[in-house]
Amino acid sequence: MANTVKSPCSGGFFYYQKRRLVQIKHGVIIIGGGVAGYVAAIRGKQLGLDVAVVESDKLGGTCLHRGCIPTKALLESARTFRTILKGKTFGILCDNVQIDFAKIQAYKNQVVKHLHQGLNNIFKRERIPVYSGIARLLNNKVIEIAQPYGGKISLEAEQALVLATGSKPRNIHLTRTDSQRVLTTDQALKLEKQPKSIIIVGGGVIGVEFASLYSDLGIPVTLIEQEDSLLVHGDQEIQKEIYRQFVNRGIKVLLNTSITDIQEQKQQIIVTTDNQHEQEVIGDYCLICIGREANINNLGLEYLNIELTNGFVKVNSVYQTSEPNLFAIGDVIGGKMLAHAASYQGIRVMEYLAGVLDPHDSRQAPIPACIYSNPEIASIGLTEHQANQQGYKIKVSKFSLQANGKAVVANESGFVKLIADAETDDLLGAHLIGPQATELISVISVGMFLDASSWELSRVIYPHPTVSEALGEAALALNSGAIHG
Ligand SMILES: Cc1cc2nc3c(=O)[nH]c(=O)nc-3n(C[C@H](O)[C@H](O)[C@H](O)COP(=O)(O)OP(=O)(O)OC[C@H]3O[C@@H](n4cnc5c(N)ncnc54)[C@H](O)[C@@H]3O)c2cc1C
Repeated sequence: MANTVKSPCSGGFFYYQKRRLVQIKHGVIIIGGGVAGYVAAIRGKQLGLDVAVVESDKLGGTCLHRGCIPTKALLESARTFRTILKGKTFGILCDNVQIDFAKIQAYKNQVVKHLHQGLNNIFKRERIPVYSGIARLLNNKVIEIAQPYGGKISLEAEQALVLATGSKPRNIHLTRTDSQRVLTTDQALKLEKQPKSIIIVGGGVIGVEFASLYSDLGIPVTLIEQEDSLLVHGDQEIQKEIYRQFVNRGIKVLLNTSITDIQEQKQQIIVTTDNQHEQEVIGDYCLICIGREANINNLGLEYLNIELTNGFVKVNSVYQTSEPNLFAIGDVIGGKMLAHAASYQGIRVMEYLAGVLDPHDSRQAPIPACIYSNPEIASIGLTEHQANQQGYKIKVSKFSLQANGKAVVANESGFVKLIADAETDDLLGAHLIGPQATELISVISVGMFLDASSWELSRVIYPHPTVSEALGEAALALNSGAIHG
């Protein structure tokens, strides 16, 4: 073994010859250890496949290190602060409530570390090899990995290569400023000092979540959106409600506003806009939330005949690309760029490769989408607009949480809206805003997966008092009529 070195593959059971490129074979090689890739690897291993993962950074990817988990940890701190400040409504008086931003960040880091450790342990227990480094396709079977400490390894996938390289924040190209005060979400999550004020560009899911977070921490927020509503792809009544609540909380929301320049002057950010009334917006930091793009640069896709759609890898119903043994899952294929969509795809692709996916099981579970803002928002299925566009004859109900005991106890507001097919009574969509919306949506997920009708949803017995009763009331409203409506 004198002339060999151990590879940094975390399984630790591969050796390669010094200065010689050694080719190691695996059945299925997954490029990217984010939630799509790591879930695929675990499921593949459970199904008896010889799987390996290549990861250039850390297992867990965006979701664990730069997305779902860190944002939710910060939001939890913000929620706690808000609850304490709201204490006097409930007869609890607290003086001098303060924020320790460094501790908020430390708590977030501790949560991420805990979950990352757990994930590493699963990989060790399952003996799934992880190769550290940046992978590049050499052809449709072979990849080369540039390793962190120099050197290269080549891997051959005997059965399939799975691209799970995820996405990265989309850049704003109108300005050449290299100011450290213009942030991506990756950078915002690492801020060590609490911003004095923040300008957020983009009123989509991520922009709304960050606006809510900073506002709950008492930081003045200006939210700029070029369209005429926040959450432009969502339900129209929710768009109005979140706008109303944000404005009531003191968030300055500029709709129909495009930014034309960003400059840093005297440790302040000046955003120039095309809004007649707010041509200049000044803040401590500017956070850019204008969407994400597929991580496909320098991946070697140019060597292969891979079809793309709007910059994302195009796949068929079993996540196969235009190269038969090359598959793609997660954010890199676009569509609903959500962690649970990515993990679902990871499981499905491995079941297909292991030959246990029933080709006749074409049922695609509907994908819920949640926003963990204050108030929470959750939706599934079609909006009214989409249902109409698709030619459905629909019936729609809306139940206000003003008439829900548990929501009133919590001093919260919002509503549940259901959309059903007027002819078959099948549930077509649900849109919730208010307390625990992100938990309650799972009831509708199960219902829609089981092809429930709105009548069936209305016959379920919901415990009292819970916010879930609003689901039953909204379903009743589509049938015999809500009791408290
Ligand atoms: C701020 C924010 C908050 C979010 N909150 C939520 C939420 O609450 N709920 C939700 O469902 N979704 C949320 N998302 C979206 C969610 O994080 C993504 O949908 C999910 O992480 C996508 O997983 P993925 O595995 O496809 O990609 P990623 O998690 O991006 O993983 C890709 C991995 O591939 C690696 N990689 C890339 N190229 C190479 C290469 N050439 N060689 C080797 N490795 C490579 C990367 O290092 C990365 O680890 C959020 C996203 C952001 C940015």
